[in-house]
Amino acid sequence: MKLLSESMQILSGHGCFGRYLHKIAGREPTEECHECGAAVDTAQHTLEDCPVWGPERADLIAIVGPDLSLPAVVKSMVDSERSWQAMQIFCEEVMQQKEMAERAREIAPMADQRRRKRARRRRVAHDRRLPP
Ligand SMILES: [Zn+2]
Repeated sequence: MKLLSESMQILSGHGCFGRYLHKIAGREPTEECHECGAAVDTAQHTLEDCPVWGPERADLIAIVGPDLSLPAVVKSMVDSERSWQAMQIFCEEVMQQKEMAERAREIAPMADQRRRKRARRRRVAHDRRLPP
């Protein structure tokens, strides 16, 4: 059984989580959760707490059970193919949405930079018109 990269992100904590993006990847100014505004976003926050993923979590709990601590989830995945699949579906749905949101945030600062460049070009053109 192949583990999807989205599941690896949840199980390892290395992925589109505020804490990882801030502390390890250095790509975010804070560790906060962009989905719900919680101060710290981790794999465990995404799996157990983040209210935004309530519907996806309900589907997961229906199969894996209410204990979503990492040891319990891993045990359930190894014991039952249905749990393995339910976890993969949860991770895939949630992580794809988090990755899409992160890509949108990456594009936003680039748009700002383009605006700044245009403003500088205008200033240079203006300076050239001034007499020496
Ligand atoms: Zn959250």
